[in-house]
Parts: sequence; C-alpha cells; structure tokens
Amino acid sequence: MVGRVQNCRACGGSLTVTMADLGLQPASNAFLASAAEVAEEKRFPLRAKVCDVCRLVQVDYDVSPQELFGNYVYFSSYSDHWLQHARRYCEMARTRFGLGADSLVVELASNDGYLLKNFVNMGIPVLGIDPSDTVAAAAEKIGVPTLVEFFGLSLADELARGRQADLIIGNNVLAHVPLLNDFVAGISRLLKPNGHVTMEFPHLLELIEHVEFDTIYHEHYSYISLFAIEQVFSRHGLRIYDVETLATHGGSLRIFAAHSQRSDIADSDALIEVRALEKSAGLGELSTYMRFAQKVEECRTSLLGFLAGAKRAAKSVAAYGAAAKGNTLLNFCAVTPADITMVADRNPNKQSKLLPGTHIPVVSPEVLMLAKPDYVLILPWNLQTEIRAQLQGIEEWGGRFVTPVPVTRIDP
Ligand SMILES: [Zn+2]
Repeated sequence: MVGRVQNCRACGGSLTVTMADLGLQPASNAFLASAAEVAEEKRFPLRAKVCDVCRLVQVDYDVSPQELFGNYVYFSSYSDHWLQHARRYCEMARTRFGLGADSLVVELASNDGYLLKNFVNMGIPVLGIDPSDTVAAAAEKIGVPTLVEFFGLSLADELARGRQADLIIGNNVLAHVPLLNDFVAGISRLLKPNGHVTMEFPHLLELIEHVEFDTIYHEHYSYISLFAIEQVFSRHGLRIYDVETLATHGGSLRIFAAHSQRSDIADSDALIEVRALEKSAGLGELSTYMRFAQKVEECRTSLLGFLAGAKRAAKSVAAYGAAAKGNTLLNFCAVTPADITMVADRNPNKQSKLLPGTHIPVVSPEVLMLAKPDYVLILPWNLQTEIRAQLQGIEEWGGRFVTPVPVTRIDP
C-alpha cells in the first residue's frame, strides 16, 4: 500500500496522464523542530494523475500514515466556522431524513465529535468512527460514542450484524481514503435499505477552474469530481440523487446518496446541473487535465519571476500562513529562506519551527510586523480577507500584499 501506485485506485484503469507533477515533497504537515529532524527529513514524489477510464484524479505515490502524520493531530473543534457549518447540517438532516430516537447516525472520520454531538443533543443515537485515539477520547468526553478503527467492508460487516444506519456521514474523508472501493463497499453494507448517505469533499471542478494545485498533497489520495464518484458509488450499489455546492475548502460538493434500487427518489435538478457543469468544463476529457499541467507551470514561473525581481530591487519578502497548501507551492517552486525570510502564523505550535522542505522559519505575526517586509506573500489564499485585515498596518511602511495563485499578483 506504500509506494508507487500503478493503476487507478477506483477502477484499475491506467494512469498515463499527469495533471500536476509537483516534484519531491516532504509530508506537508511535517514541521521541523531541530537540526536532527532537518537531517532526517524525507521527500516523496508528489504527482496528480488522472485515470484513463473513470477520470478519477489521484496521487500515484502513497506515503505511510506514520510518515504523513507523525504526532500531528487536527481537532475540528478549533474552528468556529466548522462548528456552525456542522450545526446547520444536523438541523437540515433531522428534518430531511425524519431522524428520531429510533434512528442511528454513523459518522466516518468523526474526529472529536463536533458534528455528532448536535444529534446527541437532539436525542438521536449516534456512532462515531475514527482511527485516531486522541480525537476519539475527546469525542467520548463530550458524550459521543466513538470506535477507534479504520472504516472498511470488514468493520461495516461486523457492525451491520448488530444494527444498520439510517444516515451515514463522511465529511472530508473520501479524499483521505487509500482503499476507496473497500470504503464505499462498507458504506453500502452498513446502510439500511431506506437509509441515506451524505458526504462532503473539495470539488475537483473548483480545483481546476481556480488552479488550486497547492491543495494537492500526499494526505489527499483522490481529487474528486461528481463524474468519477458516481461511478465508484454505482459499483457498490449506491446512487447519488442530489448535490449541494458549498464554499468550504475553496469550493466543495455535498452529495446525497441511497441504495441503487431506490427508484422512488428522482435525480434532483441540482445534480443534473452539476453533471452538466462538469461536462461543459471538460472533466470527461483527458485534454482538460493536460492543460491544467501547463497552468501549474505558469504559476511557478510567475512566483519565481516575482522573487527574482524582489531580490534585484533589494526588497524583502515574508510570507503569511504556515498551512499545508503553502508548503506544496513553496516546495514545488524550490523556494529557500534566501527568497522568503520568514513565514508568520498565529498557531503557537508551529512558531519557532521550520517549514517542511523549504526550512523557512515560522514566526508569530508580531515578529513579521517588526521586520517590516516590503512584500507579504499570502499562502492560504482562502483566508486572504481575514489575513489582510489582520495585517492592516503594513501600508505604514509601504508594504504590499502578494497572492500566488493562479499566478503571482502584487496588490496595486
Ligand atoms: Zn479509474
């Protein structure tokens, strides 16, 4: 399961077309705390390929979870935005699916229980499943029963012998699953005959349209279109019948699915519309993915051009936001601390460490403000409004903001 992937993880087709070749990259969240860690840093090929047959976009080199995550643990509850998103979803789901005290809601990758606790408060029985014992312990503490397991067909089989689910939820988990078929087969097995599935994932259409190649990292095995995921679901007896578009993660889809034999549920207008949008954007054509590869090169050329220009003019460049997407971009462009002297981040756990691969020091926003850089490169473009507001004072010394994607742009 670790190393080069020769065939499509969904349908077994060939992976001949490269959508983005991002070179050798360390794990995007492997921040370095010491010289010893710098010396031991490992890099792995990071390439997004598209399947010749089903058009699933996927990385073709799998890194072991130990290498990827180490001690890194993400708690969903840290984000107010997510808490609100989850609460609204649960209210919608209770009404739409008629959930009550006799129902069972199962969430895959349930994290610290931030979503399921809403159902608990409504008196609806829940079960969380998550492979991380740290987040599971946090979930149990707030009253969300959680199994510490990787989800797949064998676990689903075991659970279904006891009780099947009325609703199965999976938010931002599909992309993280190396064995996609086993995972979706498990969902089908665990779901009641009249049950529903909802899943959220970043939409490949948005990634392509906005050249968001910096959201490609080893932790994300697949980059999902409705076109590709409908084929996977259908292989396991599930049918997608509705879809919502969401603003999260640079543009996501929320799909609704049921067992294939549910002929009483019609395809929604929104589903038909997203299928048409993907078709007109060329997601069924291999040439679309080849064109994307050129845009990725243009992005690199423009960032390197900007950095060279700043150096010639003796202008200093700092960056803001030590997020995973920044690491993909900076490593792809082989940026060094001579180009970008520091990256500021509000997370104290990242400060005084080095960025993986580029070894740029992470500092607090206060340090960046004291350094008065001529340019501040905003790495998490999805948070740029917030970041601009936070660093308002940079105009006082003539500092300017720069955004790197789809091509590097300096604020006028
Ligand atoms: Zn395929």
